[in-house]
Amino acid sequence: MSSNSGIQIPSRLPLLLTHEGVLLPGSTMRISVETARNMHLVKNRLLKGTSLKSTIIGVIPNTRDPEYDTEDLPTLHSIGTAGLAVQVVGSNWPKPHYTLLITGLCRFRVAQLLKEGPFPLAEVEQLDKLEQYTSPDEMSEAPGPDGELGELSQRFYQAAVQLVGMLDMSVPVVAKLRRLLDSLPRETLPDVLASMIHTSNKEKLQVLDAVSLEERFKKTLPLLTRQIEGLKLLQKTRKPRLDDDKRVKAFACFPAKTFSLDEEGDDEDGDDTAVLERKVKGANMPEPALRVCLKELKRLKKMPQSMPEYALTRNYLDLMVELPWSKSTTDCLDIRAARVLLDSDHYAMEKLKRRVLEYLAVRQLKSTLKGPILCFVGPPGVGKTSVGRSIARTLGREFHRIALGGVCDQSDIRGHRRTYVGSMPGRIINGLKTVGVNNPVFLLDEVDKLGKSLQGDPASALLEVLDPEQNHSFTDHYLNVAFDLSQVLFIATANSTATIPPALLDRMEVLQVQGYTQEEKVEIAHRHLIPHQLEQHGLTPQQLQIPQDTTQDIISKYEHKHSHIHRGCLTHARSVAGQREEGSDYRSSRTEGGDYQRRRAEEPDGVSADMAAPPDMPIVIDHIALKDILGPHVFEMEVSERLTLPGVAVGLAWTPLGGEIMFVEASRMEGEGQLTLTGQLGDVMKESAHLAMSWLRSNAKTYQLTNLVGGSDPLEGTDIHLHFPAGAVTKDGPSAGVTMVTVLASLFSGRLVRSDVAMTGEITLRGLVLPVGGIKDKVLAAHRAGVKRVIIPKRNEKDLEEIPANVRKELDFVTASNLDEVLNAAFDGGFPGMSNPLTLPHIVSKL
Ligand code: ADP
Repeated sequence: MSSNSGIQIPSRLPLLLTHEGVLLPGSTMRISVETARNMHLVKNRLLKGTSLKSTIIGVIPNTRDPEYDTEDLPTLHSIGTAGLAVQVVGSNWPKPHYTLLITGLCRFRVAQLLKEGPFPLAEVEQLDKLEQYTSPDEMSEAPGPDGELGELSQRFYQAAVQLVGMLDMSVPVVAKLRRLLDSLPRETLPDVLASMIHTSNKEKLQVLDAVSLEERFKKTLPLLTRQIEGLKLLQKTRKPRLDDDKRVKAFACFPAKTFSLDEEGDDEDGDDTAVLERKVKGANMPEPALRVCLKELKRLKKMPQSMPEYALTRNYLDLMVELPWSKSTTDCLDIRAARVLLDSDHYAMEKLKRRVLEYLAVRQLKSTLKGPILCFVGPPGVGKTSVGRSIARTLGREFHRIALGGVCDQSDIRGHRRTYVGSMPGRIINGLKTVGVNNPVFLLDEVDKLGKSLQGDPASALLEVLDPEQNHSFTDHYLNVAFDLSQVLFIATANSTATIPPALLDRMEVLQVQGYTQEEKVEIAHRHLIPHQLEQHGLTPQQLQIPQDTTQDIISKYEHKHSHIHRGCLTHARSVAGQREEGSDYRSSRTEGGDYQRRRAEEPDGVSADMAAPPDMPIVIDHIALKDILGPHVFEMEVSERLTLPGVAVGLAWTPLGGEIMFVEASRMEGEGQLTLTGQLGDVMKESAHLAMSWLRSNAKTYQLTNLVGGSDPLEGTDIHLHFPAGAVTKDGPSAGVTMVTVLASLFSGRLVRSDVAMTGEITLRGLVLPVGGIKDKVLAAHRAGVKRVIIPKRNEKDLEEIPANVRKELDFVTASNLDEVLNAAFDGGFPGMSNPLTLPHIVSKL
């Protein structure tokens, strides 16, 4: 499409290779010039030339890594943009370099490279028409293109109008843009808009390479649509959040400290010990503590300051006066307000929120803290800590988290005696000092991770802290006087109850926080996590939008193992924040001042400079961007692919991190009837394997099972190997019994297990199926993995109520009370040898 009319660019152009960004016709870009080749071009051509022609250069995106910038000229990208250098700024700091401001004019193709050094010079062929700019008033009504191209360009124009309509018209650039949309020739719109909206360099390169106009429209339209979707999302996110915030503000109560004493400034005048004495007397401490303090103070007065003990005593007294002996906040519990707050802070987890409210209501009625301690148990990241924080907020209390993970020394809780060098108070007293009131909410995080060592059992110290009969006179070893903890509200969290010391568990009321469904996770991400992460990274929704489809992708393909998607969102935000900082992809010249605009307006080439300063629009993270940011999926396993041989079945396991599917495999070989088990499994699991084997042997005839030599005892002349692959978590617990029977039945019969079925259940020697735990998590894991049918014990039927309706709808549940029913459901067309193989037992599908 060589141009015959319009402006011609010179047929020979010096070439500037850019590593960052892709210059498109109609946009302006700031380019940093640092390589020797580009420096030569600027010095010899731009700075020396005087004619307009000498300020036109060819800009070619260099797709190679700048690290590889060697003496040799890299293979050139064949298409580039002729650009007009409108500004050249030189600087010597931190090293000599130039910054160019270049406006793209039109595409060109490199026809022949004329010379390589000191900067490349090429014979070029102009690819786009370059028209003289006509102001809207003088524009003639030129007929647009017809046919498919006409339709495309019309659709594109409409999308562009829609996009601009969604921008803030009070911004001058936007208003101008709206006017320009009508005046610009339609064929320039793809380039102009592609450089205005947020696109990656790869996408821009594709637009650059789209030489035919039709292709260019086709390449750019989806990008435009994506940006419009992003703006729509932005409008949606704006409204409800504002309302939420208002509601919460109306209800939230903030800790109102009612200090019994005016805060004393650190007035340093006067005798040091005299000041301390005043503070001791004013600290409102109970009689025994006051007596100890006065005694210590007396000793301190007699001690020379150089004595090491002086500092020790001084520190002790400082702590004593700082402790909130009688400082407290006033509770302001209003159950209705608490409900609103809990709801606005947390999505889903209805059961837990209801129980927390009941707990608070009872406390309010009885105005006492006696009673069990709430302990939230669930996988990491499901909101246990944050519910604790909300409880503090609803009560108007201070909040403090005490991490107990790895604590294995009593003195961590109770402090070190003062005779010790480096002795200090324990975490409880430290926490009180930090919050400065005696009635905070203390969150004892990860009580299941407490350790034990020679230094005493921290659990027993915690017991004392939590016991309402004892904790009004809790004595920290460092303080050596009692402190009243009875006003502190303790809440605990744990990943699993299995490792909480029994005596502690006895004092607690366990509330399970189970994993979330896919839909719940998407909602949580959009209502809570993404806004939070954006804020943390200094980004606004105007800068970044993550559509629901993308979040769904993160959840199902990247973060399924962690049962929370927090991390995925964080990576997003960090990556975008990073790119913004570097300005790599987003280096459109939005920072250009009016000065530059004025200069450009005087340029004769007809491409408006206003296009170069794009208005604020969000970057949209779509599937492609996601893959770029997070890399290939972690979870790209197809269940059906694994089940192509007899002797494999999908079991469901429960771990503290949520449910998991596991592929149980079996193989047989000639041998002497040995059963080998491998994989991460506990003792109970091994017993289940033997049970499964025995049951099958006793029923081999009924089921027409055979061994390798054709006999009916599966173990005759045969060794069996059962394996539980994948997963670092030990799968103890008997819930894999039915899976093992199915795997072995498949192995001995040579039949394939249905590729869409997963199962869980304990077995007895007589072939009954017994109930197991963790049904919700297991079913959710099966659903995630794309399983269609789940076999569960009949007696677990009631647990299905907990499973969200949308998940239930997509699964067939088979509830089995004996192994006949399991096998019948696990194999296509039932299992041979069964009385009535084609009737399926109890399908409770679509409850
Ligand atoms: P845990 O203590 O269970 O490990 P956190 O309380 O630290 O988890 O939660 C991690 C993040 O996830 C927090 O930012 C929290 O606000 C958020 N979160 C978890 N569950 C929910 C939920 N149901 N609703 C809103 N946010 C949630």
